[in-house]
Amino acid sequence: MTYDSVIRGTAVLPEGTLDSAWIAIRDGRIAAIGTGEAPQATETFDAGSDLIIPGVIDGQTHACSYGGLPGIRSTTRSAVAGGITTIVDMPYDNPDPLNSLERLDAKVAAIREHAHSNVALYGTVMPGQSVEEIEPLIDGGVVAFKISTFESSPTRFPRISSTQTLEIFSALADTAIPLGVHNEDQEIVRAHIAAAKAAGRNGIEAHSESRPPAAEMAATAQFLELGAAAGAHAHIVHLTTTRGFDLVENYLNDGYRSTGELCVHYLWLDPEIDGPELGAKMKVNPPIRPGQIEALWDDVASGRVAFVSSDHSSWPIDNKFTASIFDAGAGVPGLETLLPAFYTGAATRGYDAVALTVLQLCERPAKFFGLWPMKGALVIGADADIAILKAEKQVWDSSKAHDELCWSPFDGREFSVRVARTYVGGKLAWDGNAVVNAPGDGQYVGRGTSAWF
Ligand SMILES: [Zn+2]
Repeated sequence: MTYDSVIRGTAVLPEGTLDSAWIAIRDGRIAAIGTGEAPQATETFDAGSDLIIPGVIDGQTHACSYGGLPGIRSTTRSAVAGGITTIVDMPYDNPDPLNSLERLDAKVAAIREHAHSNVALYGTVMPGQSVEEIEPLIDGGVVAFKISTFESSPTRFPRISSTQTLEIFSALADTAIPLGVHNEDQEIVRAHIAAAKAAGRNGIEAHSESRPPAAEMAATAQFLELGAAAGAHAHIVHLTTTRGFDLVENYLNDGYRSTGELCVHYLWLDPEIDGPELGAKMKVNPPIRPGQIEALWDDVASGRVAFVSSDHSSWPIDNKFTASIFDAGAGVPGLETLLPAFYTGAATRGYDAVALTVLQLCERPAKFFGLWPMKGALVIGADADIAILKAEKQVWDSSKAHDELCWSPFDGREFSVRVARTYVGGKLAWDGNAVVNAPGDGQYVGRGTSAWF
């Protein structure tokens, strides 16, 4: 029996790395895996000494916060160029967040029209909205919910009170579905911003000071406690210090379902080193803290970090060129740098970079969002979402990016690998030079049955 395609090379399987391997694909899935002579196929690609890994699952993308639902097109084009085969998109779409079945349907339709990669979705709940509306979203396949303790926008990205947070946790308690939080205390941040502005301070260091660790930790601790009280899965979508992961671990050790996530820029950038050069180009919330990089890598290596994501934000650079740091948008593009930056950072520190990358960027997000084992691993029966990684140095140049944004805090950084190919559902999506699949080739991915706890 002939296959649609066969990829030969060094395959990174759950049980280890297999040399002289082949992966045979039929109908968009991995149909067979072996070594030695490859079976017949309509197309055969020899990856040589390159690594065949599962496609990356970016657990935190903001595709639609600027350009609305059509933002899925350029965002997912960038994703496949970065070896990412599934993005998990956040609910804070412009102009309206994903908080109802009607908006879920609209977003799924936009995915079918625009997506180059697969897309899984977070949902959210607006202030005062009934928890009754959560269930239709779960039935519709959302993989997680997210709320914020800080109002970034009253309509698109509002603050949810602690009372309502407890209600949402209670509604999710009998499910495996996590409730994620943007974790910053509103009163502390607003008071500090007002004080910085009054003092005439408006640089990147004022941004960091205006959102102190106390604001992040207070919001984190309260959210973990509310989740514990309801017996639900509480997930902190970004922690910036190792002490944040201590808090999560304390709740875990007490028997509660708690997890914390890290974004790759917290593992690379330090405001005291990079702030003068990057300024608003490294403005993210919560802020990147000084002196944390090595401690956070230790947290990744020890398994305390649930998974690592990009937190890719679709802001054009104009949004960063403001006179005051407080007027600049928060967030950075990152889909094409996530995989090479994580891999390089791990290799530089002497970790088994291949194993750690596949664990943190593929397996763990797949398990977390209920997508395992159809995604996140090269196993027979799984979707043929595959990246091919070449051990070839590159200096990042965002003018070559495919996200229509073409700026990056990683410009000029040297990475030790590049993405040579990406396959989405068995179809070539990125050939190393260009995105070659069509908008709409990516699929909407609903939550399956795997669970983190
Ligand atoms: Zn985010």
